[in-house]
Amino acid sequence: MWYANYGKIVDREGDEPGHRFTGVSFNLDIKKRQEAELKALNEKLRKQNALLERMNAELHALSISDSLTGIYNRRHLLQTGEDEFMRARRLKHELALLLIDIDWFKRVNDTLGHVAGDHVICAVADCCSRGTRAHVDTVGRIGGEEFAIVLPEVGLAQALDLADRLRRDVAAQPVAVSSKETVSVTISTGVATLSPECESFHDLMVRSDRALYRAKDTGRNRVCGPVSSS
Ligand code: GH3
Ligand code: MG
Ligand code: MG
Repeated sequence: MWYANYGKIVDREGDEPGHRFTGVSFNLDIKKRQEAELKALNEKLRKQNALLERMNAELHALSISDSLTGIYNRRHLLQTGEDEFMRARRLKHELALLLIDIDWFKRVNDTLGHVAGDHVICAVADCCSRGTRAHVDTVGRIGGEEFAIVLPEVGLAQALDLADRLRRDVAAQPVAVSSKETVSVTISTGVATLSPECESFHDLMVRSDRALYRAKDTGRNRVCGPVSSS
């Protein structure tokens, strides 16, 4: 039980100790119990808030990532592309976009099966992630076996170099599709960079898509940039 006691000795004289004491006593038990209950409730609330925050973060991570590869999904890639486009144009900075497509991928599915195909998609996604700058570049899967990479502060020469390095990395790393089988694939890449004629991120996508088609048309396993500099 909790009590609060207030009192004083009322007949002290000089050095003589007094003999009478007067005071009041309050029963604080209900108040104390309520305080303890409130404390427990607050602690429970704090834990529930922390859980909610964790769940929100997980939900956000899920909403922006591609479920097969774990890299960003199409929606997030396009959103980031728009944001980076606006930023680069406002600050007159460089910006590059790579569109990557696995060559003859249908054959992998047709000869080794879809599960093997999925392994290949994941391996290419890994290669792209490992070969780019963490927290700066945005690597996303925008379709079945197609990827896009947004490269802030990167000009054409550097973007072409990076695309070619990724192309060589993918070609040099056979993908284990089962305990005893590996398959080698190649990629084709279209590169586009921000220019005064580019009015939106969509324009940049269209340009890199055209470059990608040229890479496919001219033999695959290659990188193509804008027409004048390819
Ligand atoms: P190209 O060199 O011209 O790009 O030829 P390709 O065979 O790669 O192109 P195509 O567009 O004909 O084939 C893409 C295939 O990707 C067709 C589709 O069934 C397959 N695909 C799309 N999404 C997935 C996926 O999530 N997993 C697997 N395993 N296959 C997928
Ligand atoms: Mg394709
Ligand atoms: Mg393809």
